Amino acid sequence: MDFDVIVIGSGFGGAITGCRLAEAGYRVLILERGRRWDKDSYPRKPGDMWTWSHQHPELEHGWLDLRVFPHMAVAAGAGVGGGSLIYANVSCEPPAKIFEKGWPPEITYSELQPYYETVARFMNVQKVPANQWTRRMRLMQEAAGQAGFGDRFTQLELAVSFDPDWTYEQDDPFNPAKSKKFVNAQGVEQGTCVHLANCDFGCDVYAKNTLDRNYIPWAEKHGAEVRELHLVSRLEPVQGGYRVSYDRIADGRRASGSQTARLVIVAAGSLGSTELLLRSRDEAGTLPQLSPFLGRNWSSNGDFLTPAFYDREIDPSHGPTIACAINFLDGSQNGQAFWVEDGGFPNLLANFLDAEHARGVKSKMLLDTFRHLLRDVEPFRNVMPWFAQGVDAANGVFSLKRSVLTGEAELHLDWDIAKSREVIDTIVATHEKLSHATGGKPVVPPTWSLLHDLITPHPLGGCNMGNTPADGVVNHKGEVFGYPNLYVADGAIIPEALGVNPSRTIGALAERIARLIREEGR
Ligand SMILES: Cc1cc2nc3c(=O)[nH]c(=O)nc-3n(C[C@H](O)[C@H](O)[C@H](O)COP(=O)(O)OP(=O)(O)OC[C@H]3O[C@@H](n4cnc5c(N)ncnc54)[C@H](O)[C@@H]3O)c2cc1C
Repeated sequence: MDFDVIVIGSGFGGAITGCRLAEAGYRVLILERGRRWDKDSYPRKPGDMWTWSHQHPELEHGWLDLRVFPHMAVAAGAGVGGGSLIYANVSCEPPAKIFEKGWPPEITYSELQPYYETVARFMNVQKVPANQWTRRMRLMQEAAGQAGFGDRFTQLELAVSFDPDWTYEQDDPFNPAKSKKFVNAQGVEQGTCVHLANCDFGCDVYAKNTLDRNYIPWAEKHGAEVRELHLVSRLEPVQGGYRVSYDRIADGRRASGSQTARLVIVAAGSLGSTELLLRSRDEAGTLPQLSPFLGRNWSSNGDFLTPAFYDREIDPSHGPTIACAINFLDGSQNGQAFWVEDGGFPNLLANFLDAEHARGVKSKMLLDTFRHLLRDVEPFRNVMPWFAQGVDAANGVFSLKRSVLTGEAELHLDWDIAKSREVIDTIVATHEKLSHATGGKPVVPPTWSLLHDLITPHPLGGCNMGNTPADGVVNHKGEVFGYPNLYVADGAIIPEALGVNPSRTIGALAERIARLIREEGR
């Protein structure tokens, strides 16, 4: 075998299992389809490498993978660090009762507790300091109070580094020079948050505690090898382990190759892992015993966004993208479990001008004037993006279907909204209530009111945990039924909607899987 372990994907599942096994002395190879990114290469303007192309990844390997299926679009990250590169940093736990239905009995809230704590500590999660509350946080608290939900308002833990001395009141607060540099516990340089609202676009000052600043460098320090731009296409059992085949994508070309390992951990995300296993079973025929449950009980985690317009400043383009929630996970509203979060978005125009500035564009004075103006005058200054996640029916089904156009087998989602409609309607009604209570005018997107189309950044399931191959693809240890030493360790194994942002739960499950592999001496 070339390695003890090959990990496929470097998001929460891959970075964490890879890191912990390297730390324990395993020879680890992490194969990641996307590239490494840093603040000088983050996409900022038209023409930059924004998106990932499934047809031609050798030409277009940007960090946003957006897949569109009938009535559902799914956003995910592509790059060393996976979804952490573009996520909103919310690190939270679901309520204990989430684990009471649909999970193997070994997975309970108290079983996961130590792993949740480890992830939170390693990712150095923090709340927005009291002196740095954004306008959106104040609006959330006001809305909760006005609508009679004051005790449901809660600040969230974020994987962001804050400087307790930073305030909105200081001179030129959003100047990146106001970010304080420091070296984190994993020995990597970061900076403190100056509220630029670029969390989903790559932080200009490295205030986000992303996986490429903690778990991944820690894995590399312990000998793990991370290969970027390696798109894994197939898995097959060989004597003593598995062969992992991939295309190395670079310079507009694909070059195929393969490596072998005793253990393989598939951590390509909910859609990536599901597709890889479907292709290995149904196309290549190399893993024929995979459970017939593969692809079933997929969840969009009940994500929804309602913008509301105010005649006062809301400032969605300043501050961390999300910072607080109003918690209805107890099912008190119409019997549905969900929570509402504040949302934000980057100031695209200011970012574009910043990028031009950094590239030394002529007429520097003009650019400087516009930059400062635009950081202060946001085009959507009066908009509040109300976000939410909820417990949907988790009844999506992924399969491979031949495209009539290309004849190729493509990933297909059967998504029936009927059983999840009530939770989304309840979220919309709550968004409306919170907006009206604070003088806002909510605009329910016609994509929902007319078409019942949804978009989610929180895909869950596809290779679900179960008790047997009849109700799952992997067991509670993440090991694939029928294939010893083949694991799935990412969002694909979560068998039910969580109703909250999932990264800490995915991380906790990955910590647990790595620990059991070590303890069992695999
Ligand atoms: C805009 C946005 C905001 C979000 N905000 C939050 C938030 O605030 N809090 C939160 O908890 N969650 C958030 N999420 C969701 C979070 O990012 C995901 O839940 C999390 O990243 C999933 O972890 P994972 O390990 O399952 O997969 P990922 O993190 O998606 O990692 C999978 C990795 O595998 C790679 N890969 C895929 N296929 C292959 C292949 N064939 N070969 C090699 N590599 C492959 C991918 O490039 C990727 O790097 C957000 C997501 C988005 C898109």
